[in-house]
Amino acid sequence: MKKPFVSLEQAKKIIEQYPTPFYLYDEKGIRENARRVNEAFSWNKGFREYFAIKATPTPGIIKILKEEGCGSDCSSFTELVMAKAVGQKGHDIMFSSNVTPEEDFVLAAKLGAIINFDDITHIPFFEKLAKIPETVCCRYNPGGVFQISNDIMDHPEDAKYGMTKTQLRDAFRMLKEKGAKHFGIHSFLASSTSSNEYYPMLAKILFQLAVELKKELDIHISFINLSGGVGIPYEPEEEPCDIMAIGEGVRKVYEEILVPEGMDDVAIYTEMGRYMLAPYGSLLAEAIHEKHIYKEYIGLDACAANLMRPAMYGAYHHITVLGKENAPCDHKYDITGGLCENNDKFAIDRMLPEIEIGDILYIHDTGAHGHAMGYNYNGKLRSAELLLKEDGSVELLRRAETEKDYFAVFDFTGLF
Ligand SMILES: *Cc1c(COP(=O)(O)O)cnc(C)c1O
Repeated sequence: MKKPFVSLEQAKKIIEQYPTPFYLYDEKGIRENARRVNEAFSWNKGFREYFAIKATPTPGIIKILKEEGCGSDCSSFTELVMAKAVGQKGHDIMFSSNVTPEEDFVLAAKLGAIINFDDITHIPFFEKLAKIPETVCCRYNPGGVFQISNDIMDHPEDAKYGMTKTQLRDAFRMLKEKGAKHFGIHSFLASSTSSNEYYPMLAKILFQLAVELKKELDIHISFINLSGGVGIPYEPEEEPCDIMAIGEGVRKVYEEILVPEGMDDVAIYTEMGRYMLAPYGSLLAEAIHEKHIYKEYIGLDACAANLMRPAMYGAYHHITVLGKENAPCDHKYDITGGLCENNDKFAIDRMLPEIEIGDILYIHDTGAHGHAMGYNYNGKLRSAELLLKEDGSVELLRRAETEKDYFAVFDFTGLF
């Protein structure tokens, strides 16, 4: 059973001050989970989670994770600015970008971030802008299909990211000639995984490669970056990943492959987004319309512009009608937003308790890739983001947009 982290009473109190729709994050959940992640990898001295800012680009959230020891994984100029704004410095920042504009590299270099090169051609491109740092990372794409047992997890051969093995070897050689001293290898082979085997399998591939490159090029491999991709159970019957088992699985391959080669100083890095935040954020919206035609519809004051995942990927997000947690789910609804797009549905044919106008719907697991993917189609405005603090109080992390924000990009001189 999925349980909301607020009750109807709590939600009503919040709504008195901040009208729906809004995102609400659970500080306690975020901190406890971050501590479990750090504990799962505590066997590795250099372990660090670099939270993927793109999942929840909200300074108040990144600050909490920073307090729990996390670095920031950035992929753009603006994300770098945000990491800096919350006090991340130097190697606290991992810059894992692709198709990188010049100004992004310039800022990353200025901040002293760890640069993760997506392509071999990015090295001469970067060198024209800044000096090659002593610590560098390259992104690897092994091609082919990525399988765990008989399950195809993903198709790296179709992914735009990373370098081939030959290119990676040449890139490291080139970087070494240009003064790099410490090398990292990064790879992201499957997204939203549900198997505890994903990180250990990926680690095995990268550890073997690290051993090979160290011997061949006589270089110091200082870290392996397992990137993101650890999933969460969006559906109520799904089994959650066991982060302790994942950490232990990576430890086993570390002992098996790196330790015998004397590489027991290699740090493990991760760049999780979804696993760090998704379960600890929710979208709260009010039922403002009901409609009975060929199907039964409930219309919310939130829409796909607030949460794009269901419309974009057909993603499942569990919904609880607050205050009706124990009522029988004996009504079948499509839960929709108000965009002029028929895919603007948070749920299709979902069995829920009978919904009345004014009910508050709690959309689960929206803490990552939720507000972040919001947009302004149909002139819809992005909602506020609130933090439910550990002491039960609520803090505004981001105010809701107003029409002034929407119109701020136009020059109205002469129009009015
Ligand atoms: C998206 C992304 C992540 C985070 O992915 P999750 O699926 O949210 O864990 C980490 N690293 C890079 C380079 C990414 O693009």
